[in-house]
Amino acid sequence: MKKQHVVVAGGGLIGLCTAYWLLRDGHRVTIVERTKLGAGAATGNAGELTPQMVAPLASSNTARDIIHGVFAHRHYLSIAPLRLPQLARFGMGFLAASAGPLRARGDAALAQFTPHLLASLDRMAADGIDTSGGSTGFLMTAESEPTMLAAHEAYAERARRGWGDPPEDPMSGRELHEAEPTLTERTQFGFMLPGEVSIDPVKFVASLIERITELGAEVRLGLTVQRLGDGASVVCVDEDARQVTVSGDRVVLATGAWTSQVLRRSRIPHIPVVPGKGYSFTVPVKTMPRTLVHSMDRHCVVIPMSGRLRVVGIMSFDGEPERFHSDRIEVLRGFAEGLIEGADWDGRTDEWMGPRPMTADGLPLIGPATPSGEVLVASGHNMHGLSLGPITGQIMADLIAGRQPGVANWPFDLRPFAVRRSAVS
Ligand SMILES: Cc1cc2nc3c(=O)[nH]c(=O)nc-3n(C[C@H](O)[C@H](O)[C@H](O)COP(=O)(O)OP(=O)(O)OC[C@H]3O[C@@H](n4cnc5c(N)ncnc54)[C@H](O)[C@@H]3O)c2cc1C
Repeated sequence: MKKQHVVVAGGGLIGLCTAYWLLRDGHRVTIVERTKLGAGAATGNAGELTPQMVAPLASSNTARDIIHGVFAHRHYLSIAPLRLPQLARFGMGFLAASAGPLRARGDAALAQFTPHLLASLDRMAADGIDTSGGSTGFLMTAESEPTMLAAHEAYAERARRGWGDPPEDPMSGRELHEAEPTLTERTQFGFMLPGEVSIDPVKFVASLIERITELGAEVRLGLTVQRLGDGASVVCVDEDARQVTVSGDRVVLATGAWTSQVLRRSRIPHIPVVPGKGYSFTVPVKTMPRTLVHSMDRHCVVIPMSGRLRVVGIMSFDGEPERFHSDRIEVLRGFAEGLIEGADWDGRTDEWMGPRPMTADGLPLIGPATPSGEVLVASGHNMHGLSLGPITGQIMADLIAGRQPGVANWPFDLRPFAVRRSAVS
């Protein structure tokens, strides 16, 4: 394999994982990052690695959720009314993707990753990367029995298709509260998903940065990629507004929720990547929950993480990936307050916001941006960038080496993830 110089634009989850696998292949790697490594949505997330849950967000509830998102203040989904004109195309694509056949196609495309997602993480762990700090179980909860039973059946069906491990038996009432004593009385139904795991993304990212530094990554901070340049290059501005061009043999664009800005300025047709902002905070608790609790109807997750309790949720579309809105933290607090007892909600710390790189059909963009193949895109991982980061990095290394991406003689079908595809087909 010819060793190449690869410029990775963006040092978040996908950029760091891609850099790692490229360095393992012996390539020279330069990461170009506008702020610091591990910025964007890389560290404050829920830390879930979910072979069972990697599916598009759009569902049969999408139309109802969009209406609530525009008009209801205290909903998990919020859509800024002033941004509706810009979000119209995305919204239509999102609605289309919620229809049965397209949703089924999206599920099947993403399920290709299910068997390999934890194996890829394990390979990184075997190389010394820190995948610790997560919780020991994964409890799905609901306040209504039909919501719980419908989700249980959906996960059981995925398992029957070979897409991950089956859920454990449904629990209710006292049995559920014995399994997780910190739940409030409102939450009466749930089940464990034994195939899902969690890690501390702060530790993971720090350890990944350390390892890629050992492997010789060159890191150029304070450079914001404006557009693609000629051949395999990116045109950036530095902190003094000077133009700087960084060139290599190949470019991987991994700029998360900012990817469409760069592709648009470069006049590259692509499926739009839109920021879907999520929030998290840490809260002191009297008794730590025994397990991660993922509430399906409260749309929030509480995660015992490295001895602290992190609370995560909210999906906010306002077109401003960097802007923090403290009212969203209050909404998240309200959801979590109804889920677990014994937290000091006013004592919360580490308030954080990160933009998920969302696509209307829920599928990432993985592949060449230009016919020459000098520029590749790895972005649009929606709510699953931690789950899919390690395996995406491996796929990017395969593409750059000219290998057929795949695991154990099972090639990935990357066509559903083409950079230029119809948002609704
Ligand atoms: C609240 C929340 C909870 C989540 N929970 C989970 C979870 O439990 N499991 C899971 O799998 N996923 C989760 N996610 C999703 C996951 O965090 C994202 O999918 C993932 O971070 C996307 O990785 P990325 O590298 O594409 O983008 P990011 O991680 O956001 O990184 C993008 C990087 O590119 C840099 N950048 C942007 N523009 C430029 C530019 N022009 N020039 C140079 N650099 C640039 C940014 O500064 C940043 O460092 C969650 C997200 C949120 C917000």
